[in-house]
Amino acid sequence: MEKVIFLKYGELSTKKDNRNFFLKKLNENILNTLKDVRVEYDFGRMFIYPSHNNYEEVVSKLQNIFGIHEIVIAYKFLEREIETIENNLLALIKDEEFLTFKVEVKRSDKTYPLDGMTLRKELGAFVLKHKNNLKVDVNNPEVIINVEIRKNEVLIYYQTVKGLGGYPVGTQGKGLLMLSGGIDSPVAGYMAIKRGIKLEAIYFESPPHTSENALNKVQSLAKILTKYNGELKLHIINFTEIQEEIYKNMPHEYLITIMRRMMYRIGAIVAFKRGAKVLINGESIGQVASQTLTSMAVVNEVVKMPVIRPLCCFDKLEIIDIAKKIGTYETSILPYEDCCTIFVPTHPVINPVLEKAKEYESSINYEELIYKAIKNEKIITITNNSENDFADIL
Ligand code: ATP
Ligand code: MG
Repeated sequence: MEKVIFLKYGELSTKKDNRNFFLKKLNENILNTLKDVRVEYDFGRMFIYPSHNNYEEVVSKLQNIFGIHEIVIAYKFLEREIETIENNLLALIKDEEFLTFKVEVKRSDKTYPLDGMTLRKELGAFVLKHKNNLKVDVNNPEVIINVEIRKNEVLIYYQTVKGLGGYPVGTQGKGLLMLSGGIDSPVAGYMAIKRGIKLEAIYFESPPHTSENALNKVQSLAKILTKYNGELKLHIINFTEIQEEIYKNMPHEYLITIMRRMMYRIGAIVAFKRGAKVLINGESIGQVASQTLTSMAVVNEVVKMPVIRPLCCFDKLEIIDIAKKIGTYETSILPYEDCCTIFVPTHPVINPVLEKAKEYESSINYEELIYKAIKNEKIITITNNSENDFADIL
């Protein structure tokens, strides 16, 4: 018997004409993450053959890859006579500790001499005879023993691990995530990756008002996202001059509104240059003054590109739950200042007026400042296989 891992696709299987494209991408993503496996696939399954025996490591890495509904640990053999199937089955479950089970049979090879019902009954009876502490429970068994009769082989499996679901990264093209050091934006990024968007990220920093630690924190978060996204390009924009100009020249209640309009403008240009189709951010309706529906509309007005807000209808506690699950929370709550928090006015406008925002921002030559900031952007490529280079701040 050979131990093998195979994957069930879930939602992917609803893609008719596109399925091959999705599967190719999934295959590619798996090979990028797991360097030491061979992959074979058809429209129903994807088989993973590791070149070593560390199946646990393979499964745990597969658990971070989108587009996989279920990871199945199976045993495969070529002799298809019922006696062989029975003996192999017994050898497998010999030491397993469960009390109730049922057998399910799938005959992909319809020419096999025994029908599914007969096989199921015979195998069930055989198990009961040899492990007499077990009971069959068809409604709520502890373990479902699956036996699959294929053309040239038999598969037995009863251990499955849930995958992340979603679509393979990259099947929806590219998006630019506005990544701050907060709790929300890494979660928003994760949710976008889940739907197949390959991320690049943009971070606005305002040295000396924001520290090197704040940047390191963002890089650490980006690094965590590479677990799901694969390599991630981080665009770092120096936002100091723009922010100071806004601070000096505009009514303080509009600081955040106008600052965010500038971030969106820069984000859309960088996204366009990088071939990203959408901007993604961690806004959530009503969370702060700049995220009321009126504020969002006034800010959004500066870009034509769609802005995806995966968290718009989530409560903070729901967001925190996901942040903990995906491993970003502990880093996000580190105290380093983000550029937004330094220039926060005491009374930010809750219902900004578009005409006023336009009038105030026209008092500075923002186009030139934006051009300069983009020209001086720094790009860092963050990979998922190197050690965490920023661990010293954690
Ligand atoms: P928190 O979890 O504390 O709310 P946040 O990152 O969501 O942090 P907000 O002030 O709510 O901070 O900002 C809303 C969104 O705007 C963020 O989710 C993020 O997408 C984007 N954003 C804010 N500040 C920056 C920044 N310095 N660089 C890049 N994107 C930013
Ligand atoms: Mg937020």
